[in-house]
Amino acid sequence: MSKVDFSKLANTGVQGLRPYQPGKPIDELAREFDLNPKDIIKLASNENPMGPSEKALAAIKNELADLTRYPDGNGFELKTTLSEKLGVKTSQITLGNGSSDILEFIVKCFVSDGDEVMVSQHAFAIYGLVTKMAGGKCVQVPAKNWGHDLEAMAAAVTEKTKIIFVTNPNNPTGTWNTKVQLETFLQKVPNNVLVLLDEAYFEYVDKTDYPSGIDYLEQHPNLVVTRTFSKAYGLASLRVGYGVCSEALADLLNRVRPPFNVNSLALAAAVACLKDENFARQSKELNDQGMNQLQAGFDQLNLSWIPSVGNFICFAVPGMAMDIFQGLLAKGVIIRPVANYEMPDHLRVSIGTQAENQQFLLALKSLLGV
Ligand SMILES: *Cc1c(COP(=O)(O)O)cnc(C)c1O
Repeated sequence: MSKVDFSKLANTGVQGLRPYQPGKPIDELAREFDLNPKDIIKLASNENPMGPSEKALAAIKNELADLTRYPDGNGFELKTTLSEKLGVKTSQITLGNGSSDILEFIVKCFVSDGDEVMVSQHAFAIYGLVTKMAGGKCVQVPAKNWGHDLEAMAAAVTEKTKIIFVTNPNNPTGTWNTKVQLETFLQKVPNNVLVLLDEAYFEYVDKTDYPSGIDYLEQHPNLVVTRTFSKAYGLASLRVGYGVCSEALADLLNRVRPPFNVNSLALAAAVACLKDENFARQSKELNDQGMNQLQAGFDQLNLSWIPSVGNFICFAVPGMAMDIFQGLLAKGVIIRPVANYEMPDHLRVSIGTQAENQQFLLALKSLLGV
């Protein structure tokens, strides 16, 4: 019997795909380097160093007895809580298994063979992946000072452009766009081109001219804003996020959403988090202190860094990024190379606890031999 090459049978978009590269898990590194998992710190996936909130844990425990049931497929309680908090209708909300789910839904709804999706250089990698999966083409607009050049992006729209992805602040660069920049951009983009505004790190930003995408939904029915419980709310493993948009768009997103895509533990924990904003505030405070600590540390080591408003920061180690990354691994410190983001001279580190940041800086210092 002849051997079948299944890759030739796969959809064209899938044939050229490479899987998303996540940060290395602690247990994997422990096995590779024969280290004790307790001695390893992971600052590679922008996770919350505080761990989950007590309130979320309590809500999860409370929910355990009902695991035999399917979750509420409409997420009634979470949508109601979000709608009150954000001042939008529940019919404008789409729940996702992580906010990356929503990115996939919008592409599934609007992109097919030959369509184009626009992203900024150095933008989050998932957009390109889901676009290619759908047979679409990802058009990249050059960044300006590492960040989104929204003026250039609006000017680059063509007949083929279906969706523009904007990440504010962006991962991995930590750069952000102002209210005026976003407003001008939204006004210029034709109203039949969708704008997906990814606000995964929204809770960490306190700049006065930083916009909340929710404020622009009424004027711009082509806008979808996504947020997540994976970062400031500390629930990355549960996979829960959401999109907010016009009712007409939400109706479409819900058509491609798999039934029961958010499980009952995630739903309960997310509601508990929203009712306890203390946790997100503490996450931000810890992050602010850690950000200062790392920036001061980089300055001391004479390393340049990209100003970031997220819970992570990129620093430059020209010509030796991979060596430093590997050297840190051997010392039990996991951070993230960003060469696949066209940033071969940088590394990205997530802000950890004070002790984790210190351990990282000491390991970095010894590798640099200064
Ligand atoms: C972490 C992150 C997300 C969130 O992913 P989830 O699926 O919600 O865990 C989305 N966008 C960006 C830019 C991120 O960095």
